[in-house]
Amino acid sequence: MNYRHAYHAGNFADVLKHSVLFALIQALQAKGTPFALIDTHAGSGCYALDGEEAGKTGEYRDGIERLLFPDLRRNGEAVQHALPPLLRHWLDAILALPGNEHGLKLYPGSPLQAARAMRATDSAQLCELHPDEAALLRELFRQDPRVHVHQRNGYEALKALLPPKEKRGLVLIDPPYEAQDAEYRLIESALKAALQRWPTGIYAVWYPIKQRSQVQPFLRWLQHCGARRVLRAELLVRPDDSPLRLNGSGMAILNAPWQFDQVLREPLQAMARLLSHERAAEWRLDWLAQDEDTSASRPP
Ligand code: SAM
Repeated sequence: MNYRHAYHAGNFADVLKHSVLFALIQALQAKGTPFALIDTHAGSGCYALDGEEAGKTGEYRDGIERLLFPDLRRNGEAVQHALPPLLRHWLDAILALPGNEHGLKLYPGSPLQAARAMRATDSAQLCELHPDEAALLRELFRQDPRVHVHQRNGYEALKALLPPKEKRGLVLIDPPYEAQDAEYRLIESALKAALQRWPTGIYAVWYPIKQRSQVQPFLRWLQHCGARRVLRAELLVRPDDSPLRLNGSGMAILNAPWQFDQVLREPLQAMARLLSHERAAEWRLDWLAQDEDTSASRPP
């Protein structure tokens, strides 16, 4: 377990992951009844962008910072600043974090972004296996009775945590992919068991894209995983042809909310425009599996 998210906080992959998370929470809050969030790989919850780790890689500069300052000149031309409302509201929420009053200093991870968006009646179960990260997470939410921190394997915890008593909500699966193929197999078997225990839950799985062929078996598995519908949202900042670097990433959303593709379309277009390294930035948004309701909601 060498992975530390502090080196990557706020990078282009986080921008995709967390803006989709924000949109999912908004969709869940369209109903007044409480929901549960289960974050299987929570990290430490909050990251200092002027800290040693983030400073070493500077990855946030090609991520969140590009959305905040899109008028900077890139590729010799000024980039238009017209963010869709979803991204504007997501950025506003990050800038409203205590500590960011004078600019972006702190980048909240998935647990903190979710907790700040949650209502008093919503709840979160956070799993983090690394003892140091789990200790930071526990400290962060010490005074928040809605949030429960578990220092344990997130895949195994799902068995105990599902279905949540609220009977509605979201599982975020965001592992480090230190051993790529093995991680996909762990996700598949965790999802299979989770869907049996809680077939109606929403499951959002983040995945890296280096070389396209590495992710294809998982995408094929998703087509037949048994969820009623599966939406895939991908953002590539470079061509997906090198196994050595992160060229893009995706979110697979099982049991995605109704018409969720329409919620993500404009934000994905904007992210591709602002985060691309080369002119040929690419995004994909399509249903890997869908029921009749979803097909009816698709534009002609
Ligand atoms: N979800 C976080 C966010 O968006 O802010 C980032 C999570 S980071 C990509 C992955 C985290 O999973 C690391 O902090 C790592 O220590 C932790 N981890 C690795 N294997 C785990 C496991 N089996 N169960 C729970 N946590 C694990």
